[in-house]
Amino acid sequence: MRQTARTILAILLISSPAWAQKANVPLPKPSGFNIFSVDQEVQIGRQNAAQVGKQYPVLPDSSPITQYVQRLGHSLTEQLPQPTYPFQFHVIREKDINAFALPGGPVYVNLGTIQACSNEAQLAGVMAHEISHVYMRHSTNEATKKLAPELGLGIFGSIFGGTAGGQLAQLGGQFVLGSAFLKYSRDAESQADHVGAQIMYDAGYDPFQLALFFAKLDEEGGSRGSQFFSDHPNPGNRSEAIRTEVQQFPPKQFVTDTPEFDHIHQLAMQEKTYTAQQIANGQFSHEEPEAGPNTNGDRDREGPQGPPSLGPSGNFRSFEHNAYRITYPENWQIHGDADSAVTIAPRDGIANDAVAVGAIINNFQPEHSTDIGTATQQLIASLQQSNPALKQMGNAEDVTVNKVHGKSVDMIGKSPLTGSDGQPERERDWLVALPAQDGSVIYVIFIAPDQDFMNLRPTFEQMLRTLHLK
Ligand SMILES: [Zn+2]
Repeated sequence: MRQTARTILAILLISSPAWAQKANVPLPKPSGFNIFSVDQEVQIGRQNAAQVGKQYPVLPDSSPITQYVQRLGHSLTEQLPQPTYPFQFHVIREKDINAFALPGGPVYVNLGTIQACSNEAQLAGVMAHEISHVYMRHSTNEATKKLAPELGLGIFGSIFGGTAGGQLAQLGGQFVLGSAFLKYSRDAESQADHVGAQIMYDAGYDPFQLALFFAKLDEEGGSRGSQFFSDHPNPGNRSEAIRTEVQQFPPKQFVTDTPEFDHIHQLAMQEKTYTAQQIANGQFSHEEPEAGPNTNGDRDREGPQGPPSLGPSGNFRSFEHNAYRITYPENWQIHGDADSAVTIAPRDGIANDAVAVGAIINNFQPEHSTDIGTATQQLIASLQQSNPALKQMGNAEDVTVNKVHGKSVDMIGKSPLTGSDGQPERERDWLVALPAQDGSVIYVIFIAPDQDFMNLRPTFEQMLRTLHLK
């Protein structure tokens, strides 16, 4: 029963962005001088995430609390312009109310935060705030300000010294946690509150709940809440600023709480936590020594019917096709060659000659030379001819992949995997169609059972980010 409820919630979380009523105000674009490239941010985030895995008691990815936080997180990051960073979400066994994000996507939430939240919207608010720091590039922006002068880089360092960011990225692992990357300016804080409120609104959560949560932390004063405010300094009147912002959004029906949050909250209350001091002293034991960014998505199924291990490796390798190149998890396999349609899938990702988990990359010739929007609709119609179960969810959205403007479409289909009831599992298919130079369309379909899609999405996004048409 619990599994059913969770699956339904996962579907709701997955589905909501396509149907969500968008705010009238578009998200601001990241701004400010930054000597780091997005790829470097991702690299720095990975290096530091490996450190976090060693220095903090991180809950294993198999924990239902972590899995819930991951689903919640991805329902929020879906509100960002796509493709976005390869976000990952983890929970730390720390008593203090805090959360932090590393450049390029890793986000960490303390158990103490989950315990202190009164409802799902408040937790979504804290996470949306952290996601906003990543999206707005606050860490590398701060690091640029702090480190560029130290390294003798002028304000034009990124233009004239093209490798400056690269050198810093190599040093990334040495940027010890708690130093350059974790302290934000008050400007960055008010921006993260502002963008976070908008992400909440777009995802269907009442941003007012974040204001309530901050007000509650304020009241607790010097006790558990102080940790959050030391990493995320109060820009002043932060609750009031969020309230004022929310009043400018069109009215909307909000989700405040869910039965699943209540269940996870109960589980969180029973979990062992450590104080910041105990963690600093290393007075904890690792539950899963391998835990870290490389095991993201690599979890066991609850039922016996699922495939054993579909988890992507965190290491990527490159594939050269005559029409494009792309990187993919090194433990996945390529089916096809440089001229043909290509499937990239984990060894266990193919069931009954169909792809259950993985990506298909192929070429489509539209009927007449036409714009990418019309070509994408023709492509979907053609896919549906061979797979009538395939249904489009929401509208085709604009997507830009390495400067090529294409379309992104979410679809639902039937998985070749069957659930415990013997019926096909619900499948999520994410189609990205891009115009090729010869007038044809190169498209990728990222495929996974609905319940696994959110875990795999960071991998799919990472693959998409590296797709270069020739
Ligand atoms: Zn903050």
